[in-house]
Order: sequence, then structure tokens, then C-alpha cells
Amino acid sequence: MRRVLVTGGNRGIGAAICLCLKKLGYDVIGSYHANHEQVAAFSKEHDIPFYGFDVANPSETEKKLQEILKNHGAIDCLVHNAGITRDGFFHKMTLERWQEVLHTNLFSCFQVTHPLLQGMRERNFGRLVYVTSVNAVKGQIGQTNYCAAKAGLIGFVKSLALENANKNITVNAIAPGYTGTDMVSAMDESVLAKIIETIPAKRLAKPEEIADSVAFLLSDKASYITGTTLHINGGMY
Ligand code: NDP
Repeated sequence: MRRVLVTGGNRGIGAAICLCLKKLGYDVIGSYHANHEQVAAFSKEHDIPFYGFDVANPSETEKKLQEILKNHGAIDCLVHNAGITRDGFFHKMTLERWQEVLHTNLFSCFQVTHPLLQGMRERNFGRLVYVTSVNAVKGQIGQTNYCAAKAGLIGFVKSLALENANKNITVNAIAPGYTGTDMVSAMDESVLAKIIETIPAKRLAKPEEIADSVAFLLSDKASYITGTTLHINGGMY
């Protein structure tokens, strides 16, 4: 049974990924940040262990990942899905909002990947999937911080893929379009309605539709796919 760690696995796209992989027979471990009560219920209902830590905090993440490895054993697959938005025009953006998004969405790749990669290289198997966004490739007003971070992920994925391809480790990104989760419900309704108008499919993605693509990239059917970004956006880009 393959073991997978899904960051931000307690709600939205991450929760759909956890449930999809669990159904496929993976040994699923989830992480979250601060939603303790919701996680306790979700974890119990679906029999998925969860660990709380801030992916933006290198020492906290390193410590928790070592604890996960000690408690569960080797991790075969990583889905780094945790992410945030702190939208606003760049000319009005504070350094704090800029850094928060860069640290959570991009710099976190170092601390969530590093403790797991060495074991994958030794075992000659690994699957790494990073969740970027349509806006990483398209750009979006009010999201210079988010788009910079998510575009950075794509470069990270391409390079890490090259470094590890000879170790039977694949490294890919998925780039969802607008998806029906808390992140999108936080948007102004009229802005969201205008965005949906621009989506050729004329609707948001369902989190399950994103999860299925992750499952594919983790599967043996995708063993020759590495360094790529899979776009799932209803024709938006
Ligand atoms: P949600 O806002 O619904 O959930 C975010 C998840 O990330 C939660 O599990 C949250 O944990 C976790 N998280 C946030 N900050 C941290 C942190 N500092 N440390 C650890 N965990 C953290 O997001 P979505 O499901 O909508 O998005 C999931 C991913 O998909 C993100 O990377 C997002 O950028 C990307 N994406 C989303 C799109 C969308 O339209 N929804 C479109 C394109 C990409 P907690 O519950 O504890 O706060």
C-alpha cells in the first residue's frame, strides 16, 4: 500500500484529494494549519490521521515531518496542496501580505519536500505533486504575490523533476482553474460571477475533478510523466 502525505488535506481541494486517494487504497496522511475542531471531526469520520503545522515555518514543518515518518514509516508520495491568497493591488500591498503568500505557497516547498526526498531516492520510488494555479500562467489582477509564488512552483517542479528522473521519482504540478472551495467563496460575489463568465465551461471546477487528476499523476499509469503541469480549468487557459 502506498503512503501519501497531503498538505492542506482537511478541506477544499485537499480534502477531495485525501478522500479520492483513500478510496483508491492509499494510506493517506493529512496535514492542516489551524482548523483543529473541523479536522478532529473530518479525521474521525474518514479514518485519516492529521498533523497540524504551519508549512511556512521551516523548523515546525521539519519537526512534524520527522514525527510523521517515525509514526507511519516511509512516505511514497507527496501532494503539496496547502495554499493561501492575500489579494490586493500591488501598489497597495504590504510587505507582510507579500511575504505571507510567498512563504506559504512557495518557500514551503523546501521544508515539505526535503525531509521526504532522500528516502524516495534511496527506495528508488517517489511521486511528488504540487498544486499551482491557472493564475500562475495567466496572471490575475490583485494577485501579484499569489501568481509569483504559484509560477515559482512550476519552475521548481521542472528542475526537481530533472534531478530525480533517474531515481523513478516523478515531479509534477497541477494547475486548477477556479474551484468551488472556501478560497473561492471568500471572493466578492459579483467578481466571481464575472470570472465564471470568462470560463468556457461556464462553471467552477468541483474539487473532485481536481482530485482525479492528482490520482492519475500518482498512479503507475503516469510513471513516464514528469516535470509537467497539468491544467484543469474548463478551457480557461
Ligand atoms: P482552501 O482555502 O479551501 O484550503 C486551504 C488549505 O490549506 C486548508 O487545508 C488550510 O488549513 C491549508 N493551509 C493554509 N495555510 C496553511 C499553512 N500556513 N500551513 C499549513 N496548511 C495551510 O483552499 P483550496 O482548497 O481552494 O485550495 C487548495 C490549493 O489549490 C491551494 O494551494 C490553492 O492555491 C490552489 N488553488 C485553488 C483554486 C481554487 O479556485 N480554489 C484554484 C487554483 C489553485 P486550515 O484549514 O487549517 O486553515
